[in-house]
Amino acid sequence: MSLLREAEKCLANQKTCASLNAFITPLQQSGPWRERVREAESRREKGTPKSPLDGRLIAIKDNICTRDMPTTCASKMLESYTSPFNATVVQLLENAGAIVAGKTNMDEFGMGSHSMYSHFGPVVNLTECGKEKVSAGGSSGGSAVAVATEQCYAALGTDTGGSVRLPAAYTGTVGFKPSYGFLSRFGVVAYANSLDTVGIHGSNISTIRNIFHTLNHYDHHDPTSHLPPTRARLASYAHPTSRPLRIGVPTEYNINELSPPVRAAWHRTLAHLQSTGATIHPVSLPTTEAALAAYYVLAPAEASSNLSRYDGIRFGTRNPKLPDNAGPGGYLYAHTRGRGFGKEVQRRILLGTLSLSADAMENYFLQAQRVRARVRDDFDQVFARGNPFIKGDLESGVVGGAKKGLEDGVDVLVAPTAAGRSPTINEVQGMGEVEGYVGDVFTVPASLAGLPAVSVPVRVEGEGMHEVGGRGSVGMQIIGQVGDDEVVLRVGEVVEGMDGKGT
Ligand code: GLN
Repeated sequence: MSLLREAEKCLANQKTCASLNAFITPLQQSGPWRERVREAESRREKGTPKSPLDGRLIAIKDNICTRDMPTTCASKMLESYTSPFNATVVQLLENAGAIVAGKTNMDEFGMGSHSMYSHFGPVVNLTECGKEKVSAGGSSGGSAVAVATEQCYAALGTDTGGSVRLPAAYTGTVGFKPSYGFLSRFGVVAYANSLDTVGIHGSNISTIRNIFHTLNHYDHHDPTSHLPPTRARLASYAHPTSRPLRIGVPTEYNINELSPPVRAAWHRTLAHLQSTGATIHPVSLPTTEAALAAYYVLAPAEASSNLSRYDGIRFGTRNPKLPDNAGPGGYLYAHTRGRGFGKEVQRRILLGTLSLSADAMENYFLQAQRVRARVRDDFDQVFARGNPFIKGDLESGVVGGAKKGLEDGVDVLVAPTAAGRSPTINEVQGMGEVEGYVGDVFTVPASLAGLPAVSVPVRVEGEGMHEVGGRGSVGMQIIGQVGDDEVVLRVGEVVEGMDGKGT
């Protein structure tokens, strides 16, 4: 299909799927995109495309800054904000010839798991058979739905605790969270800095890989971006390819609450990997159970600090009814923040402020940091490849001194992305806060440890589609050691191939 036809089809789908509310700012019919697609088309015809993404429409989550469209973070606080610059990841896409396909809907500031906490109304996901409305997952639900319904070629999201992977699982698409520190976050609105990563949504691994390669560069604007020597060192530390791939199955993920279709898909995936020559090994990640609680202490703590800048003076929409001299005691701040933030964001700020207060610090914040270190350590105990950021490991390739050699560790872990099908919108509305948080139980550990992880759709056979939710599939997650992003994508491709998907 020609690039122009492809782009026009996306635009038409944006119109017909408008009720799904995947976009906060959709593409304008009259915008400059058509001209740019034409230019890309002629470069392609001459055999000189800028990149595989040249002329492709890529949607951007609305917490990633774009110069030509507003960036609202789905918040009333920023409802009329447009950034004066592009985030580095957006700039890199544009340099490669890609075109911003619009800004996607999300949970306000990335806080949520169902994309329903948006000032612009919830994202809607539909099951394939009935027209039952189900959760799109969150917080990058708009990006995932936009990809699933072909309203764009691919999309960027952000993943702090699972926000790219959970929506991917619920929409039957692929969602990739790279290792922490690989993709620049300059121009990405912070939620929880020690966890935030830019992620990629696509319909197959090959698209995801192209985008990842375009974005995976050092950025001096982002102090957490890995320096070129670190990147070179990670790349040179290659995997042994002479032996079969070793797949770890974390026993702690095999919980009673796993729904039968998810369990069946997990078994089928492992059997398929085995049939391609991989070996399967049960492994234990004992701290998994505590990871969710630690995440929900750490992420709000960081958020409460980050979001203090939205006070109506530095950032944020000030209540116009307030006089400039609204009075002592922070009245102006309180009024702006009380009106500008939605309920869930307010809850997170309160939680975070509490856990950072002097009396609660030891029991909550510091304790959660200890759990986080253990989660990291659990992963290091099972991976064949040493953690490149722990001293001494890089040279020896051995985790924890002599504890584990390359021979008995695993290369990647394979486990479900979510324990069950995507809940219906009604079910989500009936959930208590904590129940809403539980859906992140399988995605949060990799986030705490900064590991690369991809969610790939696996078809469920012989089950009613609405029982599954993700367009007849469930999400299978592949998690790798820090820096093993390529290995994770490679295994993702094998899993994708099982259902004849991919390119
Ligand atoms: N659902 C998680 C949260 O609400 C993760 C969100 C994310 O990754 N941005 O914090």
